Amino acid sequence: MSRLILYIILLVLIYWVVKRALFPPKGKAKGPEEIGEEMIQDPVCQCYVSKRHSYAVSIGGKKLFFCSEECYRKYMSSNVLPKT
Ligand SMILES: [Zn+2]
Repeated sequence: MSRLILYIILLVLIYWVVKRALFPPKGKAKGPEEIGEEMIQDPVCQCYVSKRHSYAVSIGGKKLFFCSEECYRKYMSSNVLPKT
């Protein structure tokens, strides 16, 4: 009877090896460069965000992209000169 057990173990091992060879585990995560995602740099904190997920504002006809509203506010407070 021990032969049958050995056979089963062998079959399971072969099954695993074949499965691994045919369907390798998806371990690699996608990097920052996703298809169709344009990366832009935040002028305030210098971090990179995808255009789709950025905080976009047009100031004086110029389109600006920030990573968050907080950065946009920082930009406005540091770049908009007070009227004299
Ligand atoms: Zn930012």
